[in-house]
Amino acid sequence: MTQTQFTPRVFSGIQPSGNLHLGNYLGALKRFVDMQEEDFETVYCIVDLHAITVWQDPEQLRQKTREVCAGFIASGLDPAKSILFNQSQVPEHAQLAWIFNCVARIGWMQRMTQFKDKAGKNAENASLGLFAYPSLMASDILVYHATHVPVGEDQKQHLELTRDIAAKFNHDYGVDFFPITEPVIGGAAPRVMSLRDGSKKMSSSDASDMSRINLTDDTDAIAKKIRKAKTDPEALPSEAAGLEDRPEARNLVRIYSALSGLDVDQVLAEVGGKQFGAFKPILADLAVEKLSPITTEMDRLLADPAEIDRIMSDGAKRARKITAPILRRTYEIVGMVGA
Ligand code: ATP
Ligand code: MG
Repeated sequence: MTQTQFTPRVFSGIQPSGNLHLGNYLGALKRFVDMQEEDFETVYCIVDLHAITVWQDPEQLRQKTREVCAGFIASGLDPAKSILFNQSQVPEHAQLAWIFNCVARIGWMQRMTQFKDKAGKNAENASLGLFAYPSLMASDILVYHATHVPVGEDQKQHLELTRDIAAKFNHDYGVDFFPITEPVIGGAAPRVMSLRDGSKKMSSSDASDMSRINLTDDTDAIAKKIRKAKTDPEALPSEAAGLEDRPEARNLVRIYSALSGLDVDQVLAEVGGKQFGAFKPILADLAVEKLSPITTEMDRLLADPAEIDRIMSDGAKRARKITAPILRRTYEIVGMVGA
């Protein structure tokens, strides 16, 4: 079989399930914007179908969808250069996901740590959608034949599953149709941790708002959350090795490093020896300096929801030019009459 050449194309998404937070910004948004400037077609999605795998109040969901769209643009994404839309408006995502539900194996899904984390002790009562989430995610990516997916470290396992689904589809049907996608995990902060617990990632679905810095937080809220962030009683070390076994200290230093663009050793050369009482206000000032222009721009954009909706609807039309032919060809390969 000849090896198919796929157009270099980036796909990634963010859920409108809560507040956009610093982890989304450093692990995802900021890198989405960087990739837009490189040699890729870039497709970015507000994944509302993923959000409803856990209960969402409809009015809140509408509001959060617009908020995430505003967050993308306020972080520097250009909706003329990239394709930006909400997932439900491009029906091929859900249609291909069904095919993938029939390719993926239940055993594969049972190994997914995100399902275990989110379903918790009461897995019997979780939605079927939460269990099938990774299959929809594989479809989000593969319905564009995306070759590269920038994500935070927490999504690594889902990306591996996406590769497994593509490989099994190609093998079962004897084609070389879906690409084996590359995860792009990296940047200065691929895993920002909770401010309350250095062993948990910062997350939009954490019950405690004090665990995260939201892009919508004002200056006082940011300062307060950093001041109250969990730490240990030691002073900061002057070298990176001194952060081992100190997850909370390491997290705050890494956040400082990612926001400032300095590497961890450079940061520690500046702040090593300081107590947290002295370091936290410096970190809070930097966070406010970097995030408040984004917050202000988000507010400005959200004052005109019709314009946001227009941008997403234009993005969805452009997205369907890519997804419709890929879905049609998938149906043909699978043997569906009329495709
Ligand atoms: P939820 O907890 O409901 O899953 P979330 O906070 O993980 O929400 P998502 O919409 O699931 O947010 O993730 C969007 C993107 O942000 C993904 O690429 C994910 O890997 C990245 N991301 C999420 N949290 C972090 C984090 N703490 N550090 C770095 N990247 C993150
Ligand atoms: Mg997540």
